[in-house]
Amino acid sequence: MQSLPKHVILVASGLLLLDCLIELEESGEAFWSSQLMQNRQYMIRACSELETCIGHLSRTGDYFRLSGSGTTITTRSKGMGAATMIAEGRRAQLGPQDARTIGDIVSAESRFFLKSEWGPVSPYWPALSFKKPQVGDFLRDNYDPSCDFILYAGTSDPKKTKDKDWRKRLLSILVIEPGERIRTEELVPPDSWKAVKKEHGQEWPWSFAVRQGWDCIEHPWAHNVTPVAYRSLGFRNNMGGVVEVPELERQALLSVAIRWIELPNRKVVETTSAHHDALRKKNREERVLSDALKRMAGLITGRLGPGSITTRITPPRTLPDGTDLGALLAAKLLIQKNLCALCGRSMRLDTSKKLLQCSPDRIDSVNPSYGAENLQITHLACNLAKNDGTAEEFNEWLSLASDTQRCIEF
Ligand SMILES: [Zn+2]
Repeated sequence: MQSLPKHVILVASGLLLLDCLIELEESGEAFWSSQLMQNRQYMIRACSELETCIGHLSRTGDYFRLSGSGTTITTRSKGMGAATMIAEGRRAQLGPQDARTIGDIVSAESRFFLKSEWGPVSPYWPALSFKKPQVGDFLRDNYDPSCDFILYAGTSDPKKTKDKDWRKRLLSILVIEPGERIRTEELVPPDSWKAVKKEHGQEWPWSFAVRQGWDCIEHPWAHNVTPVAYRSLGFRNNMGGVVEVPELERQALLSVAIRWIELPNRKVVETTSAHHDALRKKNREERVLSDALKRMAGLITGRLGPGSITTRITPPRTLPDGTDLGALLAAKLLIQKNLCALCGRSMRLDTSKKLLQCSPDRIDSVNPSYGAENLQITHLACNLAKNDGTAEEFNEWLSLASDTQRCIEF
């Protein structure tokens, strides 16, 4: 790979890219002078992540093209931001096998759940096993395999945790598949199952499959790294269960040294997990849509008049009798293909940016009705900008605003 100078100049063309660069600037990774800005060029600190990212992406040819000099990158961004690209690059650089510390495998959203165990995850026992079905239910409801992790802490009981070097220590960190509770004997090798069953009976009848597992190399004392979570494992309610590691103990975890382990049924687990991932994604999308519809329906009902004795400047809004608002809004979104009826850009239903949220708009502002013929869905920002104006007046504003090149991505 071509080695890069200290700084690189990014020629940004996508609006989302501009938006992400603003975030990068706040984190000190990117900056620009007014001279550069006029040409939509940004200077980016050539941090190692960026370097890796460029190497990766220029190989895939999807998002970056390096210019001849090696100092200018032209993006063919189709809505993918620089920040995302860098994160992608980082992930591409470090596969699960390469991770050296817990910090290498986590993301900002990751949460950790601590569970007491009699031994580390290993080819001997490639499963997270439990007795109480509630443990499975809890994990299914609370644990997200796309970002969360399970930590094993050895029990203090010599009968269960045979190896004294495992007792009260952090043993493993793993990603599980919480989709289906599986009979343990179906997941662990027959010899392991036979030996454990002989000694402990059907102590751990249920299991979740393990998607990835790592050894904590030095097996640090659990009470040194996660004292609060470890102590709470001993509370009666938590016995045999899992507890979430509090935020304040997160930092100490990140430097724990780990080593990836190959588990015997990994390929099978990957295949079944892909199916569950798809289901979870679908459920999430449905939830996001339903929340957005409820919010917009609430906005409309909140604006309906008269119901107020104060003098209103605008006439009360109306809704034809018998209108099913949820169905009407859902149909509008579908017809509009999730594009804003005013600016034509996409509306992200799960955005936390208030002005970019979708908002019900009356096409003819003089007509008080929110009925199907007078309803469209727009960004809140576009709706506010249009206010009582016409679509033509709004378009005039839009061309004025986009001229400044300081638009944020819608
Ligand atoms: Zn819009």
